[in-house]
Amino acid sequence: MTMRRFFCRVLSAAIVASALPTVALAAPQASSLIIATGSVTGVYYPAGGAVCRLINKTTGPLKLRCSVQATSGSIYNLQALRAHKVNLAVVQSDAQMAALKGQGEFVPAGADSELRSLFGLYAEPLTIVARQDANIQQLDDLPGKRVDIGNPGSGDRSTMDILMRSQAWDLKTFSEISELKGAERAQALCDNKIDAFVYVVGHPSGTIKEASSSCDISLVEISGVGVDKLLSAHPEYSKTVIPGRLYRGADQDIPSFGVSATLVTTSQLPEDIAYQLVKAVFDNFEQFKRLHPAFSQLNKQQMVSQGLSAPLHPGAKRYFIEAGLLK
Ligand code: GLU
Repeated sequence: MTMRRFFCRVLSAAIVASALPTVALAAPQASSLIIATGSVTGVYYPAGGAVCRLINKTTGPLKLRCSVQATSGSIYNLQALRAHKVNLAVVQSDAQMAALKGQGEFVPAGADSELRSLFGLYAEPLTIVARQDANIQQLDDLPGKRVDIGNPGSGDRSTMDILMRSQAWDLKTFSEISELKGAERAQALCDNKIDAFVYVVGHPSGTIKEASSSCDISLVEISGVGVDKLLSAHPEYSKTVIPGRLYRGADQDIPSFGVSATLVTTSQLPEDIAYQLVKAVFDNFEQFKRLHPAFSQLNKQQMVSQGLSAPLHPGAKRYFIEAGLLK
């Protein structure tokens, strides 16, 4: 399916979400599932839409109504989950670990003992998209440029903060900084308001497609001494590449490091619901994989373990054991 057709499909799930007065006001009922995602042009939002689509289609007897909520990203999602404003969230695996242990942005709130994982999704490399005329090929070319470092509440921002520390950069390293939401970054780049933006995202992503079709872009190589230092201090990140030929102007594989996108919940979610939800996705796996091009390489075995530092929810565990994916 083309990305455009997919976005049209998930839009209907968003309309359901915005029509529900319960979204921001009250804790959701057990049978009304709300997935906190990200910006509408990222991959979390369509990923949440794909999960909801299968839940709404296949969990008839439990009468589950699943809808997606567009949000500012992983850190916000984990806070909303802890506050019981939503019952499911798509989050970066590094942010999942930080919330579980009460580290980074989660130091004030402390360790989240209720956090539970359901399954992992696709790889999310740290991606830096630059205007071609800004001449930014590698990390060392970024100082002195106008850089969007991601909105507060996003996983993009928290991963960028860690990279900045290991590069010994601060906000004054750049000539200008901005903190745009995912959906605003492509236009700012192509309007020449910024030279580069940061995004921890699955590929292909709507935002980067939008940028590469509206102006000439390049993807920045993310490697070097600072990155090696970061990787040895933080086992939650691993080396990866951004595959070539997904975007106009980016034909080569680009080295980077990254995390996995994961679906999480809390220990409050009833076991039966977690079981049915995981079953809806895993029993209809080929269909799920066709719902977004970033899902094409998904592999069930990896999804059961990759990036999951929070304990598996017992409902997910029951399904995985029954399906022979876990012992
Ligand atoms: N990784 C980003 C975040 O946690 C969101 C990416 C997306 O929306 O696909 O904020």
